Amino acid sequence: MIQLFVCDLPHIKYKYTAENILFMTALTQITDSVWGYYVEEIIGHISIIKLKEGLLFIDSSFNPKISAKVRAKAEEIVGLPANYHVITHHHFDHAFGSQVFSDCEIISSKATSELLKKRDFTIWGKNTLEMLEKEQPDFKLVSPAILFENEYRIQDDNLTICIKQLDGHTLGSSIIHVPEEKIVVTGDLMCSVPIVLPFYGDSSGDIYQWIKALEEIALLSPEIIIPGHGEITNIKRIEEQKKHVMKCINWMEEFIENKGTLNELESIDDYPQVEKVPDMESFVKISKERLYYEIKRKKEIEI
Ligand SMILES: [Zn+2]
Repeated sequence: MIQLFVCDLPHIKYKYTAENILFMTALTQITDSVWGYYVEEIIGHISIIKLKEGLLFIDSSFNPKISAKVRAKAEEIVGLPANYHVITHHHFDHAFGSQVFSDCEIISSKATSELLKKRDFTIWGKNTLEMLEKEQPDFKLVSPAILFENEYRIQDDNLTICIKQLDGHTLGSSIIHVPEEKIVVTGDLMCSVPIVLPFYGDSSGDIYQWIKALEEIALLSPEIIIPGHGEITNIKRIEEQKKHVMKCINWMEEFIENKGTLNELESIDDYPQVEKVPDMESFVKISKERLYYEIKRKKEIEI
């Protein structure tokens, strides 16, 4: 059996393995106060934090049917009602199930809420929205009621929930840090195996800010990281991801300095990749093009 969980810490009572992660039908407890549900369809996570009076859910996947199932299961297992819902960023695979938490305090950065309101989605977001609006007549996008800039904190009896806006992946991208349990939920500021390539194709993203965001996450010295996608990981992965993003930036800066064009970019195959990921060509293509425009714009401003 392949051990997917790279953290080997005494306070982690339940470990993910390839088997239970892919076929998990129940919630998995990660630390004393944090549970995770692995959403197979998006290789992503819904995370749950147990507070004194109720539960805090982080992200909701792409479908209210999934988040409803996870909410019911968590309430049953932990024995507390859902009280809060935090949206890390506006992308469909994190925010489209959020209506299930309409009776809770829904929290997001102001920027995330504005992008949701503007329906400023990627191609996959637009397609999913169309599908959901057709299939589920009561589907709606939520408007978070608690909006913050920079940071928002919830102080519970023995637990501090620090929600920090770091931007980078998208404008408004936020992480959730629980210092007492040395755990950080990163949204898509971090991805992990098997989704080793972070997506930097969002029109509101900022690749240079992303590097700073990764450095800020490292400064928190987390022992456990629940990434936006892929296996639960640890601080070592931050450095790997930073290196990869830097490699992409350096490659693209050089490509633009050598007067490379967008057409040439399509056919070039020495673009840095951690490994070839099947069925992710459009994901890489959109990321690459966006990076091209972003760096080109930056260079024009510098001139
Ligand atoms: Zn995502």
